[in-house]
Amino acid sequence: MAVIISTEKCIGCGTCVDVCPFGAIYMKDGKAYIDEKCTQCGACIDACPVQAIYREEGSKPETPAKVDYKNILVYIEQTDGQVKNVGYELLGEGRKLSDTLGQKLTAVVIGDQISHLAQDIIAGGADEVYVVESPLFKNYNTDGYTTAICEIVEQTKPYGMLLGATTDGRDLAPRVAARLKTGLCADCTGLAIDEESKLILWTRPALGGNIMATIVCPENYPQMGTVRPNVFKRPELDKNRTGEIISFASSVQESDIRTKLLELLPVANETCKIEEAQVICAGGRGLCSPDNFKLLDELAELLGGAVAASRAVVDAGWISALQQVGQTGKTVGPKIYFAFGISGAIQHLAGMSSSDIIIAINKDPDAPIFKVADYGIVGDVQEVLPALIREFKNR
Ligand code: FAD
Ligand code: SF4
Ligand code: SF4
Repeated sequence: MAVIISTEKCIGCGTCVDVCPFGAIYMKDGKAYIDEKCTQCGACIDACPVQAIYREEGSKPETPAKVDYKNILVYIEQTDGQVKNVGYELLGEGRKLSDTLGQKLTAVVIGDQISHLAQDIIAGGADEVYVVESPLFKNYNTDGYTTAICEIVEQTKPYGMLLGATTDGRDLAPRVAARLKTGLCADCTGLAIDEESKLILWTRPALGGNIMATIVCPENYPQMGTVRPNVFKRPELDKNRTGEIISFASSVQESDIRTKLLELLPVANETCKIEEAQVICAGGRGLCSPDNFKLLDELAELLGGAVAASRAVVDAGWISALQQVGQTGKTVGPKIYFAFGISGAIQHLAGMSSSDIIIAINKDPDAPIFKVADYGIVGDVQEVLPALIREFKNR
């Protein structure tokens, strides 16, 4: 695997030092050397003007044959015997990818006594559903789920694989990718197929959300990515769709799972579940004090909604990070999103701009949030928020 610098050929220009993303090249006595930080990514090889850098003979990682890999596989997350919304969103996008490729859309669902979900997954667009059931899978656990998915991938050899960028998906996907020795594009917000190469184009925000980067995984399979929840609309379920349901016996044993679930503690009440909420009351620094989140709680409860926040107030310790919306928080897609005292920074908008109706309350008429808002109230949240609560109570 090693990437090597020929000290004979090296002219000491230093180009490779700047190119190495891992800071693995240093200069000594006018020559470049590679240290143990090298990941063999190969970025320096093409950068050297005198071809002094090369890969050890026969050491290039073996590329699996593309032709052996077919179909798009979607990992369907379920909790308490219900498919999570993100699963349906992935089926909708996976369907488009598989139709473009002329391949099947397959899905895997893991849990205990969850076979009843297979028909809904087919209704969401899958052609084949692998159901992996065992009491060992009653609750999510990294070891068991990783092994079960890898077994399915090894048997079915999917061309692409989609997982939700949820707490579990973000835990599972890198492990699966590492075990399968393939790449993973995390937190995608756009998916397509390249017309020429037929590779999956994974698009995601980069450089603090200021640009969108499109990434490909050209040499390893399956091409894997996690996809942000609430970015894509869930498809209408077609109860008349038919598909194949395959019961898959995983080899996972109790001794393979190194963790034990001792107790499940509720860390959040109903107003904390922002990903699935239809109404969200979000607060930012303009709320002026953490105490004013009590007013947001009251409004959210009145409207049957959830409370969310900008990163500024999460960083200030006013509210839990579980409720942060945005690029480094959660992506939400409610019917109504109230933004109280939130300026509308691009990183915040990245998490909520797909909401059906955005209502912004801000004392600054030039606040950027008003550019994406459907309705705007220019005013002090400390006056507007109690007035809204009063009004909703009266109705
Ligand atoms: P401010 O920008 O300070 O805005 C406060 C607003 O409240 C202002 O518009 C002001 O006019 C208004 N206001 C003040 N007082 C009142 C009042 N009494 N009544 C009415 N309005 C009032 N941010 C996120 O939210 N989510 C993310 O995931 C996220 N990720 C990030 C990732 C990176 C890499 C970086 C660099 C930044 C990220 N940020 C994120 C931070 C983001 O850039 C902003 O700093 C943050 O969103 C600002 O939060 P805010 O709107 O609450 O505060
Ligand atoms: Fe750096 Fe990649 Fe070259 Fe290694 S192969 S020295 S990590 S650029
Ligand atoms: Fe030497 Fe090539 Fe690196 Fe320049 S780019 S320092 S010639 S190895």
